[in-house]
Amino acid sequence: MAADVGLDARHERRTVTDTTRGLSQPRVIPVAAPVLAGNEQAYVLDCLRSTWISAHGEYVGRFEAAFSEFCGARHAICCSSGTAALHLALLALGVGPGDEVLVPSLTFVATANAVTYCGARPVFVDAEPQTWNIDPSLLEASITPRAKGIIAVHLYGHPADMDAVLDVARRHGLFVIEDAAEAHGAEYRGRHVGTFGRMATFSFSGNKTITTGEGGMAVTDESALAARVCQLKAQAMDPTQRYWFPCIGFNYQLTNIAAAIGLAQLEMAGWHVQRRRQIASWYREDLDGVSGITRQAEQPWASHAYWMFSVLLDEAVADRDAVMARLAERGIETRPVFYPLHTLPPYRADANSALPVAERIARSGLSLPTWGGLTREDVRFVSECLRDCLGQ
Ligand SMILES: *Cc1c(COP(=O)(O)O)cnc(C)c1O
Repeated sequence: MAADVGLDARHERRTVTDTTRGLSQPRVIPVAAPVLAGNEQAYVLDCLRSTWISAHGEYVGRFEAAFSEFCGARHAICCSSGTAALHLALLALGVGPGDEVLVPSLTFVATANAVTYCGARPVFVDAEPQTWNIDPSLLEASITPRAKGIIAVHLYGHPADMDAVLDVARRHGLFVIEDAAEAHGAEYRGRHVGTFGRMATFSFSGNKTITTGEGGMAVTDESALAARVCQLKAQAMDPTQRYWFPCIGFNYQLTNIAAAIGLAQLEMAGWHVQRRRQIASWYREDLDGVSGITRQAEQPWASHAYWMFSVLLDEAVADRDAVMARLAERGIETRPVFYPLHTLPPYRADANSALPVAERIARSGLSLPTWGGLTREDVRFVSECLRDCLGQ
């Protein structure tokens, strides 16, 4: 495995040594961290030496071409963040004031915020209990005449049930955007996510499976949508008339430096994805059969990309927050599942009802350390500590 080069050094750096007391404390295991073990440094240096450090430069085009091949979409347009990619995708599809867009409540806040940026209203839909993704059987009841589209999120890297979502969308004339921010490498029925909806968006934030530091990508098979995204991300300048601005645009461009990091990451995409699946299989080996733990269940039609390996703790057996605190004492960083968005201050007044599945998953769910630098030993240590917390 080529990328094992550099990983040991990274581990070393994360070892906490308390020199004042002469004690070597156990290593802190972060919940997520990037692995920059390929051509990242060489490509970034190339940008600096060439002085091509802004949004123009060869790495931008190379990163986009490599990403479009990676996910199988005809067009890939990079931008400054996954949130910007969502905003651009919604605008390209014509979302504006007064519109409604159906979104899962159990997701990162950016999914709903991007809808709000357009002057539209997110309508929150409950989660499906197995995959934790938007429940397709609940979509129809949330569709009003103002509904324009649906954002399906592939939460933690597990694909949403796209056939079921697309079926509802087709019958009601709605677009579908896939928020694949967490799903680099995930497959739905044998095909990489990102080409099931009319558009899809990815994030390259520092803790995501493929990173550029901060960054995002919008992908689509439709040239008209791609052209619209390209224009909007750079102040909407007319592509045929420089410095002519026919409408209001944004500066959502990605720098050549960030694209250079992204290209180097993509060259090792296979390793990054395979490594996470390996880590998940170690967790399964260690934790399957432990009572009180339920995994986000990989469905037969899915290939889970395991941005995060996440579990529910049976509320009758253990208190999630107490378990997280005990793991932290042993140097293990974890994270709670997202708060359901319909319970957050900006959105709760608007929420029309309780969404019990999302609320239960959010109360009892946590993500365990999942990133490429973890070793078999690390995973065994985390699993043992977790079992210990559950008295097993
Ligand atoms: C990370 C994330 C985003 C936002 O991406 P940024 O690059 O941080 O703006 C959007 N949606 C989901 C589901 C995410 O996890």
